[in-house]
This record gives sequence, structure tokens and C-alpha cells, in this order.
Amino acid sequence: MTAPLDSAARPAAHIDLDAIARNWRRLDAGDAGDAGAVVKANGYGLGAAPIARRLIAEGCRAFFVATLDEGEQLRAALPAGPSIHVFNGLADGAGPRFLNAGLSPVLNSLAQVEAWAAARSADAPPADLHVDTGMNRLGLCQGELAALLDRPELIAAAGVELVMSHLACADTPSHPKNARQLARFRDVLGALRAHAPRLRASLANSAGALLGPEHRFDLVRPGIALYGGDPFAPGARPAGAPTPEPVVTLTAPIIQLRDVTPGDHVGYGAAHEVDAPARLATVALGYADGVLRAGGGRGYGVLAGARAPIVGRISMDLITVDVTAAGQAARPGARVEFLGPHAPLADAAAAAGTIPYELLTGLGPRCERVYAGEAAS
Ligand SMILES: *Cc1c(COP(=O)(O)O)cnc(C)c1O
Repeated sequence: MTAPLDSAARPAAHIDLDAIARNWRRLDAGDAGDAGAVVKANGYGLGAAPIARRLIAEGCRAFFVATLDEGEQLRAALPAGPSIHVFNGLADGAGPRFLNAGLSPVLNSLAQVEAWAAARSADAPPADLHVDTGMNRLGLCQGELAALLDRPELIAAAGVELVMSHLACADTPSHPKNARQLARFRDVLGALRAHAPRLRASLANSAGALLGPEHRFDLVRPGIALYGGDPFAPGARPAGAPTPEPVVTLTAPIIQLRDVTPGDHVGYGAAHEVDAPARLATVALGYADGVLRAGGGRGYGVLAGARAPIVGRISMDLITVDVTAAGQAARPGARVEFLGPHAPLADAAAAAGTIPYELLTGLGPRCERVYAGEAAS
């Protein structure tokens, strides 16, 4: 059976912006309005600009990206007002670009604090100061913080209004590192506020925001939970923590069907041997679209409510699934769901031996992004 040639037959990622808004609300402490949103890596692969516009309509005022380029692109796509913070900091000579685009650098070293103090103008956006509390990835180390505290005038000169740090183990609430980082962050904040009492503070990502009120401070920085990913390690969800609702539905069309019998082999390497009569569907989706090859023989799609296990290896542009259980619903052109309400992100990530973050950010450019709930702007 061959499909009528459909030149538009390609994978689609349906993104429910209203679901993102509801997930954001679940992480915002009610009237406190203390939740920002992390939209780095193009909004975890889902589209930073439409997501940010939708969240602005919901009341979000602070967005975080990783790189200067991401910040400039987001600034150009948004109405004036919300702050945009660049985690990866102030590279040499980048000051004018931050000023032009009105971006807040996250200052990760004493040298960056000095450079921003020298570069900024009177109307420059405020900066963030990132202090490392034990992750050893970004931020001022203890020695640099001590040096800054010896020259406290630099805090005002650099226009620092927010102090942040990042938790290494928030996805595992029982991990002792969480309490150690919290204690260290409080010490850091106390020392800095002795010089700048109005400094605001931010420690928590999605999981951190749900660890308890003591981790929230003035601003939380959720990412993955906005996009429907469970921020906790499997089995580590604290009682009462809200479950994010699914946001992305990834589907792709069947382009061919065939019946196989025992002894037949499927796909590259003849890696799968058929052991019972089955109906197989070849679907227009592959690892070039971000469906990790490691999920071959382990993951599944869903068609008409029936599981369609992935059979054999995943190719660049194609996946073969067993649609026997879907009966008459298995037709050329029918769309198989690989992520969504029937095919949870957590299952797909586990099948490929990875985490939801990597799946979402890996969704390829060939997947058409289709938005529901777009904010008027
Ligand atoms: C990516 C990132 C976040 C968001 O983390 P999630 O686990 O996706 O909520 C928050 N803060 C920093 C510094 C980050 O790099």
C-alpha cells in the first residue's frame, strides 16, 4: 500500500501555548508574581518568541536566555517592558550589544562585573550577579566574591539588582546538596545585602521552585516544567508538587504500510526479526527530526489509542512502527503520535536513555511548529 503523494507530509509539533501559561501559573506563587521564564535554546526547542508573548499576556516580566544572540532575537520579537537576562554572561567587547538590545547580563566573574561597570550607560538595564554555591559551572567563586566584597562600590557601579545561583540537585529533593547550597546562598546574600540592602535574589529552577518556599526567594526561573517536562528525577517528586501538563504533541504521517510474516527482517542491519504476523507502518519521522536513534526497538508511537511499538532501527527520515493493534486506523496519511498526551515525554526520554530536556531541544527544523493559543500582538 502506498500513500497518495503528499508533498506536505512531514512531522508536526503542535505546541499548546495555553498549556504553557497554565504550567507557568502553577509555578508562580499566586499573587506574588515571582516567576520568570527560561526560554533559552529557542524556548527548549518550541519557539521562544511565541512562548514569551503568551507568558507576557499571563503577567510574566522576566525572561532568561543562554546567549547574547538569543537575547537579541527575543528582544526584537517582544514589546518593550519585560527584562531579558543572558545566563552565559558578558563576553569581551559585548557591552554595546547588551546596551543596544536592552539586555541584562548575568555577570559570572569579577572581570565581568568590572567590564559591565565600565561599559554601562545611565539608562542601562540592571545586571544580575551569579555566585557559585557549589555547582562549579558558572558564577563567582568564593575568592572572587571576597574580592568583590572588598570593593562593594562595584555592586552599584555595575547596576547589580539581582543575585542568583543555581542548584545542582534540585531534581532530587532528598539530596543533601540542596540544603548546603541554600545555606551558602543565604550567606552570600547576607554579605552582599550588607552593602546593597535592596538586592533581589533568585535560586530556583523548575524543581527548585517546588522544593519549598525557602528556595523561592524573590524570583524563580522555571524552564522544563513550563514545557510539560517533569522536573524531578523518576520517583523523586515531592508529595503535593503539581504535575506539569503536556504541551507538545509530535505527530508524523504514515507513508506506507506492509504486512510481514515470521522470519522477515525490518530496517537497517536487519536488526529486528519478525516473530508473529504483523502490520507495519513506515512513518515520515527520523533522527534528523530529533527522535533519538537510541529509542529504536524500545520507544513507541500511538495510533487511535493503540500503542505502536518502534520496530528495528530508527533511520534519518523514517521510523517503522507495528500498527497491528490499531486495526483500520492504520492508513496511509494517518498521523502517529510520538509525544503528547498518549505518548508522554517521560516515556520517550526513558526509551532513548535521556531526559525530556534533550528530546525537546533536539526537535529538528523539519518538524513544523504549529501553535494553539497564540497571544494577540
Ligand atoms: C536552564 C536553567 C534554568 C531552568 O532550569 P529547568 O530545570 O529547565 O527549570 C534555570 N536557571 C539556570 C541558571 C539555567 O541554566
